[in-house]
Amino acid sequence: MFQAITYLLLKWESVLAVITEDSIQKTGKSPVSKKKKSSWITSLRFRWFSQISFFIITIYIGWSFYLFVRYCESGGVTAFVARPPGIEAFLPIGAFMGLKYFLGTGAVDPLHPAGFIIFASILVTSFLFQRGFCSWICPVGTMSEWAWRFGDWIKSKFNSRVSYWLEKFPVKLTCGLSMITTPIVALMLLNMITFASFKSPGMKYIFPFMIAAIVIPFVLPRKIWPARVEDAIARAWKYTLLAFFTVNIVIKMSAAQIGMIFERAPYMKVADIKMMHFFLNLSLLAIIILFLLFFFSIFNKNYWCRYFCPYGALIGILGWASATRIVRNKKTCIDCSKCTIACPVYIEVEKKNIVYDVECLGCYDCVDSCPVNGALDMKVLWFGKKVHYAVYAGLVVGLFVVFMNTARFTGYWYNNVSVQEYTELVRDLDNPRFKHQQGKFEIEE
Ligand code: SF4
Ligand code: SF4
Repeated sequence: MFQAITYLLLKWESVLAVITEDSIQKTGKSPVSKKKKSSWITSLRFRWFSQISFFIITIYIGWSFYLFVRYCESGGVTAFVARPPGIEAFLPIGAFMGLKYFLGTGAVDPLHPAGFIIFASILVTSFLFQRGFCSWICPVGTMSEWAWRFGDWIKSKFNSRVSYWLEKFPVKLTCGLSMITTPIVALMLLNMITFASFKSPGMKYIFPFMIAAIVIPFVLPRKIWPARVEDAIARAWKYTLLAFFTVNIVIKMSAAQIGMIFERAPYMKVADIKMMHFFLNLSLLAIIILFLLFFFSIFNKNYWCRYFCPYGALIGILGWASATRIVRNKKTCIDCSKCTIACPVYIEVEKKNIVYDVECLGCYDCVDSCPVNGALDMKVLWFGKKVHYAVYAGLVVGLFVVFMNTARFTGYWYNNVSVQEYTELVRDLDNPRFKHQQGKFEIEE
């Protein structure tokens, strides 16, 4: 019995080999050498190890910060836990302000230095290694990936029509909403309208256009409304958010103004604690939005990262300059489409010679899935040098860690607010001086 099974398997392997050789001869391609997958360590498993490690670190930081705030709120009754500076990574607006402050003065934000250092390290890493941060480090990217892998399993239980709609509904809705928000934000950034404009009686005339914008992606046939157009319009969300931050912080605010805010705005001192309270006491609206983001992330790959994350938008643009790229060798490629199917950001890798795409995450999933030796690799352009995934990971993660530790040892990691001061601030948190109105802070004399 065992011999019969072995014989059949060997026979099947030789049939496959003949088919592959045939297809190569018919297409006039170079002979291929199939990859030997002997090791259980693949780029995917290696990446998961990195992602899970950073995810655990993030949970640890969040928990430590919670215990620190509890210590301050209790007036020192609960056990003391030091404030983890890494929590500042969750203050994206503060990071943008820190960047402008640094560009204008050459100094590091004294309130959230770790936030600025993390932000700067992400920018430098992206410039060199495209969006490797998103797929190897970012905990939000990790959760997105877990969500869509689970979603892939759910979709496999339904017929193709149902899975199509589960996947496309989020994009169509996001696209429709983007057709409303993008022009509104653009007009606001050009100072042509303000929040007050929404109260004008003329607003009622644009409601039919808003409804049409939402309906269009659902009703127009693909021939006149291609998927790539829909996707591009939906992705305008993240560029709109990025433009909003860039114009309002980097362009409109001077470094001196930001310095004054760091020094004298009480809100900025407790921005991290306010953020924690926001997540611990979510409003109904926030719960609905977070639920929808999570739900859509299950059925549409990397939904948050692809359509909304302004960091992702920025580092995607910076990553355009990176010399490390996925490169396809069309002579040895057998056009099997496995790379395209594996790509979590829907890039048609099989049709590219070099993947120049702001969405490429440097995740190596395409390389891992390619069955042919040398047909698809991450390479350093100009030198043509192949970059092994372990080297790539080492560079992305290593650079990130080197930045943190350099900041730690040179005194740019811990802020200048004492535990005593935090304890006093926390007890007065309901005071209006710790609130902000549409981004405007109270400045103390
Ligand atoms: S092209 Fe390859 S490396 Fe880039 S995101 Fe797609 S699968 Fe990942
Ligand atoms: S996985 Fe992509 S690059 Fe590799 S052989 Fe198939 S089509 Fe070509």
